[in-house]
Amino acid sequence: MKQSIKPRPQIDLLADGILQGNRMMLSQAITIIESNLAEDQKLSSGLLDKIIHATGNSIRIGITGVPGVGKSSFIEAFGKYIINLGKRVAVLAVDPSSQLSKGSILGDKTRMEELSKNSAAYVRPSPAGNKLGGVAHSTYETILLCEAAGFDIIIVETVGVGQSEVSVKNVTDFFLLLMLAGAGDELQGMKKGITEIADALVITKADHDNVKHATAAKAAYQQALHLQPLARSGWIPGVLTASAHTGEGIGEIWKLILSFTEQTMSTGFFHDNRRQQGMEYFEDRFKSILYSEVENSPALQAEKEKLKHEIQQQKISPTRAAEMLLIAFHREAGMRKF
Ligand code: GDP
Repeated sequence: MKQSIKPRPQIDLLADGILQGNRMMLSQAITIIESNLAEDQKLSSGLLDKIIHATGNSIRIGITGVPGVGKSSFIEAFGKYIINLGKRVAVLAVDPSSQLSKGSILGDKTRMEELSKNSAAYVRPSPAGNKLGGVAHSTYETILLCEAAGFDIIIVETVGVGQSEVSVKNVTDFFLLLMLAGAGDELQGMKKGITEIADALVITKADHDNVKHATAAKAAYQQALHLQPLARSGWIPGVLTASAHTGEGIGEIWKLILSFTEQTMSTGFFHDNRRQQGMEYFEDRFKSILYSEVENSPALQAEKEKLKHEIQQQKISPTRAAEMLLIAFHREAGMRKF
């Protein structure tokens, strides 16, 4: 469990600071949002109340790919490119490895060094929390905070393992999948169904000797994508090649993202999708609050353990046990003032 920041700034001051684009206050707010302490969770809601009116004005881009595909190099090149166009960029790097190894795949090396130093950029590594390979519960709120702080483009980066792609998709507008050329794996992504949720596939490292392989991989993906059903957005995914080293393809990717937003805004999908994501997050959050009420109550934990034991002894069915836990929950809740 994390330590909360002390001395803790007044929530009003923190909200004002964020709205003025103060990145130190933004960092403090994100730390509070990421905290599991009950008192910090209350502060988080208070803070979000004060900034929610200033959220929503960004393009949220999810970027995923296997370790070594070139995510951090790509984000560095892409981030610098859009900063040169006058945009402000926030990068939230969600690290799925942290609770497995207690170390970090994303954090071990210096990543996005130049971007981190740029005053128009904000780079924040985040633990994946208790969702294995997924996006931290706080990522959605962190996106809102970054928008309130005036960032136009929010990039959510995650390593492509397990369900992380789906979680990233659920909090972003545009989902970019980075792929390596060659290695005989052109169609590997297709099997896993990842490409079905991608709005663009980018073959990385398309430079020097690798240009030929990258171009061949692009053609193979384009071919294969034709067979996929049309996405809910009505958008046909783009397949591109890019090099973070030469800058080749970076501008085309930005153009593609702009045409995606233009198209989906004109059909209404863009905002419908955002609204749906908000609803799904509300449902998820409510479930996790309910669950943590049980987890944090010693009396309910004891009841749960007792019921588990009785299930194992075949004294009670899991169905009945779940109902009894709910009855115990109501009893507990009735004794408590919220
Ligand atoms: P990540 O683990 O997905 O974040 O990948 P990195 O960005 O750390 O890159 C992994 C390796 O690929 C590093 O050695 C990079 O220098 C190299 N790399 C990344 N992008 C490119 C590129 O555009 N061209 C070439 N030739 N190498 C690249």
